[in-house]
Amino acid sequence: MKENVSTPIYSITPFTLLDYAHKSACILWFAGCNMRCLYCYNPEIVRGKGSISFEKAIAFLQTRKNLLDAVVFSGGECLLHKNILELIVEVKKMGFLVKIDTNGSKPTILKELIEKQLLDYVALDFKALPYHFEKITQSELFEPFEKSLHLLLKSQVKFEVRTTVHSDLIDEKVARMMVCYLEKNNYTGNYYIQYFKNDVETLGDLGYSSRNLNPETLSTTTIKVHFRG
Ligand code: SF4
Repeated sequence: MKENVSTPIYSITPFTLLDYAHKSACILWFAGCNMRCLYCYNPEIVRGKGSISFEKAIAFLQTRKNLLDAVVFSGGECLLHKNILELIVEVKKMGFLVKIDTNGSKPTILKELIEKQLLDYVALDFKALPYHFEKITQSELFEPFEKSLHLLLKSQVKFEVRTTVHSDLIDEKVARMMVCYLEKNNYTGNYYIQYFKNDVETLGDLGYSSRNLNPETLSTTTIKVHFRG
């Protein structure tokens, strides 16, 4: 991916109550991604170039001080961007909570953000198990994902793990294996599954996805599976 360094942000959602639990937030959508998930429904963000600079984003956030609780860094993959740490430092100084949505592929910067106590919440995508990670994401980034998971597990940062499910790619058996993987890695708490959205433009050419999973049978004594969307 060739980063547009001066204007890395594709667009800004000025207000949402849906992205950060119990908080009002805005979302900064960062252009570009190092994965190409078949079900990705943000192709224009993943393939596109940004048009908003960090400075412009900061100017916007100045107008939202004391009005919004949080800033969500999403994309694309927000942690790919040069100077992301500096931007997050600025946002924290302004008094906002910081949530990042990440595919887990950048553990080095994630570690730094954790160590500097710059994160209030992380949503980590668990795309797939190693054997079909490449098929689903068209990348070979399972190892960095796993490092990110371990970093978050060792940290005090609140985080969730979530998976997008297309019924052609993840069936009940695979979903069970994914829960098992999380259990083996000592993840406890909520595991969010979001179904593929039919009838939207996606990166890959996938057919209709059915709602094929049962949250009750997937949940275990330590992991509670929830469905979103
Ligand atoms: S769904 Fe995949 S390709 Fe799309 S933004 Fe997330 S990680 Fe990138």
